[in-house]
This record gives sequence, C-alpha cells and structure tokens, in this order.
Amino acid sequence: MDMTKTKINIGWNFDNSYARLPDVFFTKQSPDNVPSPKLIIFNHSLALSLGLNEKTTENIEVFAGNTLPEGAHPIAQAYGGHQYGYFNMLGDGRAVLLGEQITPLGERFDIQLKGSGRTSYSRRGDGKAALGPMLREYIISEAMHGLGIPTTRSLAVVTTGESVFRENILKGAVLTRIAASHIRVGTFQYAREWCKVEELKALADYTLKRHFYNEVNHENKYLFLLQEVIKRQALLIAKWQLVGFVHGVMNTDNVSISGETIDYGPCAFMDNYDPATVFSSIDSEGRYAYGNQPYIAAWNLARFAETLLPLLNNDKEKAIQLAENALSNFTELYQNNYELGMRQKLGIFNEEPKDNQLIKELLSIMYKYGADYTNTFRELTLHEFSNTEMFKSEDFDKWYKKWQERLSRQMESKDYVQKLMKNSNPAVIPRNHRVEEALEAAEKQEDYSVMEKLLSVISKPYDYSIDQIEYTTLPKKSACNYRTFCGT
Ligand code: AMP
Ligand code: MG
Repeated sequence: MDMTKTKINIGWNFDNSYARLPDVFFTKQSPDNVPSPKLIIFNHSLALSLGLNEKTTENIEVFAGNTLPEGAHPIAQAYGGHQYGYFNMLGDGRAVLLGEQITPLGERFDIQLKGSGRTSYSRRGDGKAALGPMLREYIISEAMHGLGIPTTRSLAVVTTGESVFRENILKGAVLTRIAASHIRVGTFQYAREWCKVEELKALADYTLKRHFYNEVNHENKYLFLLQEVIKRQALLIAKWQLVGFVHGVMNTDNVSISGETIDYGPCAFMDNYDPATVFSSIDSEGRYAYGNQPYIAAWNLARFAETLLPLLNNDKEKAIQLAENALSNFTELYQNNYELGMRQKLGIFNEEPKDNQLIKELLSIMYKYGADYTNTFRELTLHEFSNTEMFKSEDFDKWYKKWQERLSRQMESKDYVQKLMKNSNPAVIPRNHRVEEALEAAEKQEDYSVMEKLLSVISKPYDYSIDQIEYTTLPKKSACNYRTFCGT
C-alpha cells in the first residue's frame, strides 16, 4: 500500500476483494501524482447512486490519483487477450483499480482510474491518457447507459496539468471508470495460459460469487458460468445491433465477463444502415464491422470456453463436449434477442413466422437507399416521413403496406404501438459530428457547455422531446469517412 498518499473518507465505503485473489492476478500499483488536477466533468447522479457526496472538491484529488479513498489498496490487473486474432500478454497498462465501492444498496462497483500512469504492464506505453479520448468514453458510455445497454460508466474526468505526447501535444486527463467488475475474457485467458489450475479455479469461483451468485445448486458450476456469460453476451450484442452501435475493437480483453460494454476506443454509432460499417482506422479488413459483431462475439466466447476446459470436466473429451454444447446455443440466444428487439422497434407485440422477413425487407430497402438507421426508425415511430429517396420509393410503399397489415393483425391500439416504438427506438444517438463538435469545444476552447448539452439530450434518448430535434440532423457531408482511433 502507498503510505505517501493522503486518504480521505467522504462517502467512500471500500473493499478490495479482487486484491484478495492470488497475487498472480495483479500488481500493487499507486496512481501517479499529478501537478494540478482540474475537474472537467462530473456525473452527479452516478455519484449519488454510489453513495458519494455530490460535492466533489475533496474528491477531485482522488479522481486525479493524488489522494486515495480510505481503505483503498490500488492495483493494476493482469490479463491477456486476442487482439485482432493474435494472443498477447496485456494487463492494465494505463489504469489502476482503486478498489470496490459498496453502495448504500449493497452493490459492489469497481472504481478505476484510467490514464493514471505507468504500471508493470505498460510495455512501451506512457500510462497516460489525453482529454479528448477520455471525454469521448464519458459521452459514449453515458449514452449507452441512457439507451438501457449494460455498460461501464463514467464518474469524472479531470485534467492533470501535464501534457501527453501523441501525434500532437495534448492535455493529460484521467477518467474515473465505474464497472460491475473489470474481469475480462482476457483475464481468464491469462489465468489459463500463465497460472496454475488452482489459480484459474480461484478466479472462476470469485467470478461466480461476484456476478452469478445463484450458482450454488448447479451440478457443474463452471458450466453454469460459461452458460451465463454466453447468455449475457447474446443479450449485449443484440442490444448493440438494435441501436447500430459499433464497438470497433472487440478483442477478448475488451469483453467483460459481467456482460457490460467495456473499453470505448474506436467505437461509434452507424449513420446509414450498412452491415459493413467500420470506423476504426486500423480495422482495414472489417473484422469488427457492424454486421460481424455477433460472429466475433461467438468467436470470443469460444476463447472463453477454452479457458474453462480444465474446470468443466476431468475428462478432456467430455469437457470439450460440454463447452461445444454451451457455445452452440449462442446463435439462437442472440437471434431471439435481436428478433424480439426488432419486432418491438416495429411496434409488434406478438410473433408471427413471417416477421423476420418483414424485418429483413426493411433493412434491405434501407441499405439500398442508404437510409439513416436511427432516423428511419424514429420516423416510423412518429409516423412522419421526411422527403428522402427511400420514403418516396415504391419499395418502401410496398413494405409499408405489409407492415400496416401486420400491425392490424394484433389487438393493441395505435397509441400502444407507438408507445412500444418510442421505448424501443431512440430519437437521438451521439452522432459522430455532434461528439466531435463537443470534443473540439472542450479541447480547444475549454468550453464544456456543448458537451453538457449533448449529454443531457442523449441521456434520455427515448424522450422524444423538442430539444432533441436538432440532434437528429445528419452531418452535411456523409459521415462515411468518419475514422476513430485505438490506444489514444
Ligand atoms: P486498449 O486498446 O485500450 O484496449 O488497450 C490495449 C492494451 O494496451 C491494454 O493492456 C492497455 O492497458 C494498453 N495501453 C493502451 N494505451 C496505453 C498507454 N498509453 N500506456 C500504456 N499502456 C497502454
Ligand atoms: Mg482494452
């Protein structure tokens, strides 16, 4: 433990269960001290739900890494991961887990500082983060939360008073990230590759207890773990697809066992519907394209299943059989979630065999006319159609009639249908040009009002409020050249 840092206790209620795992899983690591922390953005409602005081002056030093919450035993976590298909040793190279906050409701959340300095896993990196990417993570993760998608969250961003050196000289910043945990598929891969079976087992037992506590009566609790992780990914990825979210870097170290979206690097929301949509500058082959995400999730889950083989059964063949059976359920689980979500987006309450065709036809018309994904569903919801090529087309007209016929075969009233659609189709998403505009104002002019306004609008995406309308407009130039970057 770092004895040189002051400890404060304003609302902090800390435990360090991860740090009680075998010590192969982490190294003790204090965050760097930084010269002049300044709070840029703070998540008041999240702070309150964590049991923290809304007044943050004292905690700014905690968010910067200069002070520690009382009871914190900061560590950097070890993990591995397949990056673009290649396996590497990774670990928290620029993050420190301060520990776990126990909330007034008794929930446990990781409190992690991202950009807090070098660790034993930093390799050649500087351990630091720049303001722009940390604000970007803040914005997108909070948007995901607003959309009702499981995600890590952002409590605060502070600038440090230091410069970080990338292609340009940038303002250094630290993001305080809140997560159900930071246990990744890559954590299990690390355990399988470099640790003893007892250590792997300790990790699996810990994970079961932390995230899947009702496992006690299951005849094979490690199989249960695998099945539950598969279920949560099948739900998560369906939710991404339904709102057009492209994660951009679905490496196995960026897959959280808890089923939250984690690691907002090159992610972005799709504008016009196109399964080949890729934003990441380095994903030239489209491995992590929008339409590939379900397949990549299945691939990542297979990597997870491999790590559990020694725990599933002493007989290797039997273990493989159990894993394969569990994995074979993913596609159906995913597909059911996706199709249910799509029916809801179209205001359909029950299920008919031809619903799938109706969905596919709409998507293929949207693709043909390059229609905006979010706005198409928004306009279907409002029943107000803009003057776009698609809405004027005969293709759409034919589809529209089929859709109306389909709706007439259910009991629910028009109002009820619209209610379902409003709850299923976000009126706004954090559009790339809006996010860029907010980041530019923040980085260049120290004007955070643009970001704050954007955040207030996207935090309630299903509101269909008047102040959201201006956020539904598309960028002047098509956003198809939009590029995002990793490791920033
Ligand atoms: P990410 O692309 O954020 O998922 O990071 C992949 C790996 O690179 C993780 O092990 C990170 O901790 C590490 N990493 C990313 N940026 C830095 C940095 N600036 N310094 C040290 N390690 C880093
Ligand atoms: Mg990562």
